[in-house]
Amino acid sequence: MARKDIFSQSIAKEFIINTGGEDAIPLIKACQNQKKKFTDEEISKKTKLKITEVRAILNRLHYRGIACYDKKKNNKTGWYSYTWEIKEKRIAELILEEQSEEIKKLEKKLEFEKDYVFFTCKKLCDNVPFEIASEYQFKCPKCGKAMEIVDNKKRIKELKK
Ligand SMILES: [Zn+2]
Repeated sequence: MARKDIFSQSIAKEFIINTGGEDAIPLIKACQNQKKKFTDEEISKKTKLKITEVRAILNRLHYRGIACYDKKKNNKTGWYSYTWEIKEKRIAELILEEQSEEIKKLEKKLEFEKDYVFFTCKKLCDNVPFEIASEYQFKCPKCGKAMEIVDNKKRIKELKK
């Protein structure tokens, strides 16, 4: 069975564009599912991107561990040649890392909302925590109307989603 293309998921596409730029997509596609590794010249030919662009993209992807290279010395010329491969697994790992960061942030926010009871007046001028509401004797600092506990169960439900 054919392997599922990572770019069938829009989140992967978005992640790659943010990491390597728009042209990183055709570059990765050109290197995908290939047994061999490619030099930057070969990638440039395959993608029709300029060699300087290819190098810039590869550097950006290398920085995140998505593109890896092998360095070989040509004994005749003494020059080094680099062949590149794309680590698709790494792309998935990075996306998962980013997502769990997001979730952690939401969880922190949720903790905060749970720990603090908020008060507001009937006109809903503002949501204020208990300490501030009590300082104002539970009268809205803006309109002077009595303040009551905000039902934050709804908000917590929203955040949990
Ligand atoms: Zn008010």
